[in-house]
Amino acid sequence: MLVNLTEYFDINGTSHLSVPFEAEDLFDGIEHREIVKRSPIELDITSIGEGKLEIKGDVSITLKDKCSRCLEDVEVEVSASFDYSVVKPDGYHELSDDEQLFMDGYSLNADILANNELLMSLPMKVLCKDDCKGLCPVCFINRNHGNCGCDTFVPDPRMAALTDIFNANKEV
Ligand SMILES: [Zn+2]
Ligand SMILES: [Zn+2]
Repeated sequence: MLVNLTEYFDINGTSHLSVPFEAEDLFDGIEHREIVKRSPIELDITSIGEGKLEIKGDVSITLKDKCSRCLEDVEVEVSASFDYSVVKPDGYHELSDDEQLFMDGYSLNADILANNELLMSLPMKVLCKDDCKGLCPVCFINRNHGNCGCDTFVPDPRMAALTDIFNANKEV
């Protein structure tokens, strides 16, 4: 949602706004992640003088992702807090890289801001549970649901080398 910031430059104290997060999904430029639960974007806007606003806030969502071991769908809660200062667009100040992304004249694009902040807060690795057993490398069954009995023994390569030497000597 676009938030017009014009009036806040002249307000003393902090104004709290609760604005809807209207993005359909979380998008990192490549992948769209479905948002299954969302709460409003909470913003605290404070005029800090010299035509500047401090914009603090937080946002949280639940999105659908896949367990990186067993590939089952998992719901992941992601939340982010942010703190920016924004300069009144007077034609003199150059916008910072951050502002260029989410500011459009006097309007703050809260969806873009929230999207970017949430992307930076994504967990590095998504697991359905800490001890997820993953997929069997032979038959790809999800081992959390049962054991397929496949032989997945991978010999230690150093041991394998010794066995080769042993076998070679035996043949002589
Ligand atoms: Zn899993
Ligand atoms: Zn298997």
